[in-house]
Amino acid sequence: MSTMISCSTINLDKPESKVMVIYTGGTIGMLRNEDGVLAPAPNMLIPALKNNPYLHDKLYAEATDTTSLVLPDCDEKYRVIYTVLEYDPLLDSSNMTVDDWMHIGKDIRDHYEKYDGFVILHGTDTLAYSASALSFMFENIGKSVIMTGSQIPIFEIRGDGLSNMLGSLILAGNYIIPEVTVYFNNKLLRGNRTSKVHVSSLNAFDSPNFPPLATVGIKIEVNTKAIFHQCDLEKFRVQSVLNKNVCLLRLFPCITTSTIQEFLRPPAMGVVLQTYGSGNVPSNRKDLLDEISEATSRGVLVVNITQCTKGSVSDIYETGEALKKAGVIPGFDMTPEAALTKLTYTLSKPDWDTTKKREMMQANIRGELTSHDQFLHTNENDFVDIVAHALNINTSEERKQLGAILYPAIASIAVSDGNTEMLDNLKKYGVDFSASNMDDRTALHLACCEGNLAIVEYLISHGVSVHAKDRFDHTPLLDAIQFDHHDVIQLLVQSGAHLIGNPRVIGGELCKAAAKGNKRRLESLFLAGADMNQPDFSERTALHMAALHDHPECVSFLLLHKARTDAVDLLKLTPLDMARMKENKHVAELLEFAREDEDRQKTDLGIKLETSFPEVVITKNS
Ligand code: ASP
Repeated sequence: MSTMISCSTINLDKPESKVMVIYTGGTIGMLRNEDGVLAPAPNMLIPALKNNPYLHDKLYAEATDTTSLVLPDCDEKYRVIYTVLEYDPLLDSSNMTVDDWMHIGKDIRDHYEKYDGFVILHGTDTLAYSASALSFMFENIGKSVIMTGSQIPIFEIRGDGLSNMLGSLILAGNYIIPEVTVYFNNKLLRGNRTSKVHVSSLNAFDSPNFPPLATVGIKIEVNTKAIFHQCDLEKFRVQSVLNKNVCLLRLFPCITTSTIQEFLRPPAMGVVLQTYGSGNVPSNRKDLLDEISEATSRGVLVVNITQCTKGSVSDIYETGEALKKAGVIPGFDMTPEAALTKLTYTLSKPDWDTTKKREMMQANIRGELTSHDQFLHTNENDFVDIVAHALNINTSEERKQLGAILYPAIASIAVSDGNTEMLDNLKKYGVDFSASNMDDRTALHLACCEGNLAIVEYLISHGVSVHAKDRFDHTPLLDAIQFDHHDVIQLLVQSGAHLIGNPRVIGGELCKAAAKGNKRRLESLFLAGADMNQPDFSERTALHMAALHDHPECVSFLLLHKARTDAVDLLKLTPLDMARMKENKHVAELLEFAREDEDRQKTDLGIKLETSFPEVVITKNS
């Protein structure tokens, strides 16, 4: 087939987003073995995805020369390009342990800046535990991490594997939902609110105490107000140690004292107590309360959650009050999976004393619980509702459209005024600062152009994403660079922002700045994390351009930040060759001096290595 025909049928103009798929195992990729039972099948899934036209667009991959997988085009903003990392061994999730959570955490940490979103393929049996654990391990997460699997293998004609995989990829590549979530049966659920509720139904997961974060029907509806934002001005990090000394104790009417003693004795450091109804234990069982009291006074964290699927523990009964007196921590409406994994996380924090750990167990740190004082604003106060009422707008669709117009517009007034007080007031009226305008620009984009540090700080600490991309694929960081607001760039980077896109384009920006002698822009790019040696499409570096166009200030800046004097462009010219060709004497001297210095350092390093590791043969020029 001719290229012309293929190009005319594919849209190459759409922006791309990159998703990493971590394939840990589970039914989704299983095959029946010789005994007729499902078992993990290594090296089968990726070829199957490549040959499935719903999951891989071969024409687009050929036209763009990518070896990654490409989702066929759909109605969403981005073309999703994805790569799959298959684990070895693949696991039935019943065999997963804390170490496997660490493994996933490490892989996401290592690839975090290279991808826009992540999908984790996982068995359904312990998926809710892994989702809960990862939600706590991922501190200051700013990107979507979606876990999915299926009840029927993806290789079978009739099943849920394809739609779960497709939906997860589309959501991860198109929406910033900065949480660990579970996508199953057209619903996106908060991971730490989720439990597996059915053995065989395709509707296997539910989050009984929290609404879905998104539903996928004819349209994708994202419940933006329900999204939980970690609002610290800090980078993504993974808590890589968890405390395994935890257990789950479900009360039952004839439980014996010795059973309770067994659960509470060392090495147990955290116990999830599943009590009756709204958090009750038998108040006539002094033995039970005494054992619990003794354990909490030893520092064991005992968290009370209900055995009921829906609802929260509270202290409306005398029987529940007794637990409080015994030092038990209310776990409100946490799922058992969330309470247990939250304990593994909290107990692993070396800097938190017992009081802090108790405090954290009852605080809502990842959207995992609803405490009584948590309702920030009600619909009566909602700004859009007030305007909708005045305009006689009744349908939810129209109300949504009104919000999409009003929220960004009203927030932008406060942002360009630099008025944090006004932002505070707007917040009380339910204004969503993360909402984007028709160009997909958020209040943070505008604030980064304006360069008002206090406003930028306010918006990030109120959950506006540093990763949001506008219609032109610009992030707030690019806007701050465009206006050289160094303090804003630093704050964004500190809060997890990073440069995105083709490194050659960033190389091009560096070269452009160097050619113009724009040292301030070079500084901006440096602060944003650009590699000062990144070449552009013709292999030229900023140092080539600064040398060629005779900008000694830029040359000095670049040399100071480890720009290499031996970099060669497509014509095999070094920056020094260019300076000499143009007779830029001062620049040539700087480069000569730097080159001598580099040689001297290499020699010193060679001697140092030789003397430190005499058994290793290192030549001075290596
Ligand atoms: N036993 C399988 C697992 O959890 C079940 C599934 O994936 O649905 O890996």
